[in-house]
Amino acid sequence: MPRACPICGKPVPPRTENRAFPFCSDRCRLLDLGKWLGEEYRVPGPRAGDGVEVPAPPSEPDGDDA
Ligand SMILES: [Zn+2]
Repeated sequence: MPRACPICGKPVPPRTENRAFPFCSDRCRLLDLGKWLGEEYRVPGPRAGDGVEVPAPPSEPDGDDA
């Protein structure tokens, strides 16, 4: 019985003739990889992934105002 692609659900060709096994195609294999990477980025915490690479310093008074 054919295996179902975990990404798109299509029948997966046997490993012997499918280098993207256990996915149906390279495309689905990459999609799965991207999915994993995407989740990995979210694991460290909700703060990471805001798009802010440099931590913005809190607005502290300079004392230079007078
Ligand atoms: Zn697929």
